[in-house]
Amino acid sequence: MINFQSIFLFVLLMYGGELFANTTAQDKQQLEHYYTKFKADIDADNMLHVMSYIHQLRQLAVSQQALEIEVESYLFEAMVKRRYGAFEEGVKLNNYALELAQSAGNKKYTAWAYLHLAHLEMELERFRLAQQYIHHAIDYYKSDNSEYTTLMYLWQSKIYLAMGSYHQALAASNKAQSVTANIGDTMYEVAVNHAQILLKLGDYQAAQTMLANVDPTQISKSQERVRLQYYLALANCYLQAGNFKLAIHTALSQLANSYNTRFLEEQAQLQFLVASAYRQQKEFKLAYRYLNRYSLSKDALSLQRRNNKVLQLEAHFKFDSQNQQLLLLSKDNALKEQRLLQQQQTIENHHLQQQRWLLAGILIMCGLAFIYWRWQNQRYLVTLKQQVAERTHALAKSNELLKTMSYTDSLTGLHNRHYFFSVINQQLAKLARANHLLPPAQLQNLVFAVVDIDHFKQINDSHGHGAGDQVLEQFSKILQQHSRDSDLLIRWGGEEFLLVMDNLTFNEAAHTLNRVRNAVADHQFTLNHDESLQCTCSVGFASYPFIAAMPELFNWEQVIELADGALYLAKENQRNAWVGIAPSTEKTHWQSDDVVKHYRKYLLAGELQSYSNITAKLKF
Ligand code: GH3
Ligand code: MG
Ligand code: MG
Repeated sequence: MINFQSIFLFVLLMYGGELFANTTAQDKQQLEHYYTKFKADIDADNMLHVMSYIHQLRQLAVSQQALEIEVESYLFEAMVKRRYGAFEEGVKLNNYALELAQSAGNKKYTAWAYLHLAHLEMELERFRLAQQYIHHAIDYYKSDNSEYTTLMYLWQSKIYLAMGSYHQALAASNKAQSVTANIGDTMYEVAVNHAQILLKLGDYQAAQTMLANVDPTQISKSQERVRLQYYLALANCYLQAGNFKLAIHTALSQLANSYNTRFLEEQAQLQFLVASAYRQQKEFKLAYRYLNRYSLSKDALSLQRRNNKVLQLEAHFKFDSQNQQLLLLSKDNALKEQRLLQQQQTIENHHLQQQRWLLAGILIMCGLAFIYWRWQNQRYLVTLKQQVAERTHALAKSNELLKTMSYTDSLTGLHNRHYFFSVINQQLAKLARANHLLPPAQLQNLVFAVVDIDHFKQINDSHGHGAGDQVLEQFSKILQQHSRDSDLLIRWGGEEFLLVMDNLTFNEAAHTLNRVRNAVADHQFTLNHDESLQCTCSVGFASYPFIAAMPELFNWEQVIELADGALYLAKENQRNAWVGIAPSTEKTHWQSDDVVKHYRKYLLAGELQSYSNITAKLKF
């Protein structure tokens, strides 16, 4: 899939100079400051950092009528929402950006909004819609023979590939290749995509020739996903050619890299490929292990999507149709009641004189029959209502289950980043509410600690990736044993964990983390065949609010960055150590951005204070 950072970068480079009009010098300067930061952060893949000031940037853009920046801010926010699974909000924000661009008659930005919508719809597997959107974007760029045209055709090809229309995908990919002879990331991406199509068509030799045009070391850092897809395609070539060993080797080395990334789709495909290759080699136990992991990754991925779009629709649909049934029944009741009354009237008119007694008898019979019939219907209505309630309840439960699965890391069973992002704002709101009522001396806080295993790569290298996994599992058990129910314990990245502890003083946090460090160092990690090994970990931490008197000044993302900085210090100075960072003076002119970026300088100047179990003086 295409990397949207690069798309942003193109747009930003094109429009960087001409965006500000009719503003005072100071306003203009402020907007320019934020916009430059925005560009730099996107370039460095600092997506979450941007989220902390995106609304300020947008407000400035609105007040200065910098429409294009406003549109970009919506497109960016939509992209972040999409990445974390909030598809509905993503669609809303993208459509908003589209409306803005259209109402201002800005065709170029309209085309970009369509491209973003195509990406989103493709993720939701609504391919027809995605195709319509990408057509609009192509229409705009067709006449201009540039890299953007390549990008649009590449996109069209990707959508066809995802739909399973491989020949159309190939045709679009050929167009993408013919438009420009540029080399670099875009052409690499085009080549990898082309190879993926050829592999689907079974032509692994042509795919391998195509991949030979790509130099993976030249793919830029921001295009990590393309590199991963390159190796995935290469391993697939080996697999199709029957070279299972090489296929497994290539896939496993990339699998290790993929754990540090957010590209679950490629991770699942690599796991599946390894399982297939092991199966061909009749290594059924290993094949089973990787198939199991694949199915966990894949389930988490697809269930999350299903959770988002299908289940809600299904629930609405079932509820609606049952309600409709109820409505029909009650209408039917009313109609029959009316008819019965009409009959009674007619009988009365015709035979009133002659057959009085008979009539009375019939009337009584009819009345009784009617009462019985109504009673039966009422009972039926009650059962139906019960069924609706039961099904609604069952659906809510299965929704809950799906949510839990997509929030869980398949290896350790701990919560993952998705989960953290879904609860952190609630947690902070709870903290703010509690602090609102408390006197300054009793204010509560959260401690953010980043825990990282020391020299973990060596464990993988000397005992194998499987042993590394076992260490990770046992390591997470130790962390669980040392955390309280109210703590948040997250698998933050490969061998990196985030521990969020509430209502703990700085000293108490240091004691707890020291206990964790000792427990890890003392533990015998058991591997297969009765082997065992020991390892250590390092910890960095900081407290939120960072400055108690000014809780708004440092946001939680910045506190995590400071904890990360503390972790670096622990690694550089010793390892098997903890380091905490706190402000040492109550000065009022803190510049949070600068403190986070140059924390070493502030430590040297004594404005930040470090605490550690390392007895020697820390080197910054
Ligand atoms: P340091 O002490 O500086 O932290 O060194 P390190 O070797 O622990 O750190 P580095 O970042 O160099 O290497 C981490 C390695 O962890 C790289 C990656 O292959 C591996 N890894 C990441 N996730 C997993 C996983 O789920 N299973 C296994 N077995 N290895 C993983
Ligand atoms: Mg490590
Ligand atoms: Mg690490």
